[in-house]
Amino acid sequence: MSDVRDLSVAAGLAAIEARDLAAAEWADAYAGLPDELGAYLWRPDEPIGGEEGPLGGVPVAVKDIFCIEDVPTTAGSRILENYLPPYTATAVERLLGAGASVLGKTNMDEFAMGSSNENSAYGDVRNPWDTDRVPGGSSGGSAAAVAGGLAPCALGTDTGGSIRQPAAFCGVVGLKPTYGSISRSGMIAFASSLDQCGPFTRTVADAALLLRVMQGADPRDTTSTGIAAGVEMPSREDLSGVRVGVPRELASEAEGMEDGVREVMERTIALCESLGATVAETSLPNARYGISAYYVIAPAEASANLARYDGVRFGERVAAEGLDDMYELTRAAGFGPEVKRRIMLGTYALSSGYYDAYYGRAQRVRTLIARDFENAFADHDVLLTPTSPTVAFPLGSRTDDPLAMYMADYCTVPMSLAGVPAISIPGGLAAAPDGGPELPVGVQLVGPAFGETALLDAAHALESAIGFDTNAAWRGGADA
Ligand code: GLN
Repeated sequence: MSDVRDLSVAAGLAAIEARDLAAAEWADAYAGLPDELGAYLWRPDEPIGGEEGPLGGVPVAVKDIFCIEDVPTTAGSRILENYLPPYTATAVERLLGAGASVLGKTNMDEFAMGSSNENSAYGDVRNPWDTDRVPGGSSGGSAAAVAGGLAPCALGTDTGGSIRQPAAFCGVVGLKPTYGSISRSGMIAFASSLDQCGPFTRTVADAALLLRVMQGADPRDTTSTGIAAGVEMPSREDLSGVRVGVPRELASEAEGMEDGVREVMERTIALCESLGATVAETSLPNARYGISAYYVIAPAEASANLARYDGVRFGERVAAEGLDDMYELTRAAGFGPEVKRRIMLGTYALSSGYYDAYYGRAQRVRTLIARDFENAFADHDVLLTPTSPTVAFPLGSRTDDPLAMYMADYCTVPMSLAGVPAISIPGGLAAAPDGGPELPVGVQLVGPAFGETALLDAAHALESAIGFDTNAAWRGGADA
């Protein structure tokens, strides 16, 4: 074996089984590595070891939005600096219970609000393909860790694209499962009706391995139902008989799509056909309103969820004379500008007199988008879109333009609103419009609710045909 860090989750487990690798060696290979990307916010002296089980020895990096008992958990915010949770998130508990060990907590946009990781209170994360570019967000640290050879797999959360978009920007696999398949207990809430946990991995099979362990109902989250039929390991070698739909609103007609992304999409469509799929254009007529509806619903829910950071119950407090002053000073000092913007937007949208005009209307749009997906899945088994209209953009290039930043999730937000599962896999490389090295382009496959097995199967077949090297960035590209 050339390098332990080359190993996918499945390959590492096989090496342990064959006694070519000792379980503890795997995490140790990652433990002391320098983190020049700024991917981690916290790493323990020794990886936090789990029990024995199907993931025995698997090292995993965890987005800093998941509570782990007595481990610093900030959600990328000053307001949770020095916060030590009294319990562990169910998703993490299940991984530890299956034998995984935690390498550390990864950097993220504050409260998962962002598409570039530039909203973290603890500094930027760099894209391992080009360190002057963003890794995507909000799970930027997790994506950079996997692509940058700092972890074989990682956990993220996706509210409107925060697993899929950074996976695309960093050239790794990112899965947002069906809403409700994995418990949200212990996952710091942003927008509760949208938040979903999922894995970052180097292969689709690895995503299945983690999903199998994490999914399932949990009495601590009443919206978690689990995937009743379970999740089978992907095994498909071609796409014969698979009906692929390409929704034009998110593909040929998508706003702001770069030529390089368009070319990778065209190549991917041709590849699907050569693998035996029938590919047809389809329509999600209301998907174009996804961003508008999302930026009412998500801030509305965030404004309610973030009311709990009052300087009394969690994290930091700024001392003041009276209670009102204490709230005000604590929240003014503790939250960053994007979080404040969302709280103001959300509070406004929910205020009496406006509730129906904004929140009620956005919820109706959400229903229409969910129906669009149902209609599309009557004729198609999977939908194919680009994950993001662009490749990774330069650090600082969109920070002054929130709307341009929000458009990074144009292709991922509709699935979050509908609750359906979606996976981003690397489709190939493309040049950025502003020059520089070629960068990864993600393609997104979408399936019907709880259809993870078939979705992962199709993604696996396509991934094998694409043959993208998800280790290329950290190995130094050229001779990879
Ligand atoms: N970029 C979107 C936002 O800022 C999505 C973030 C996410 O999925 N957590 O809200």
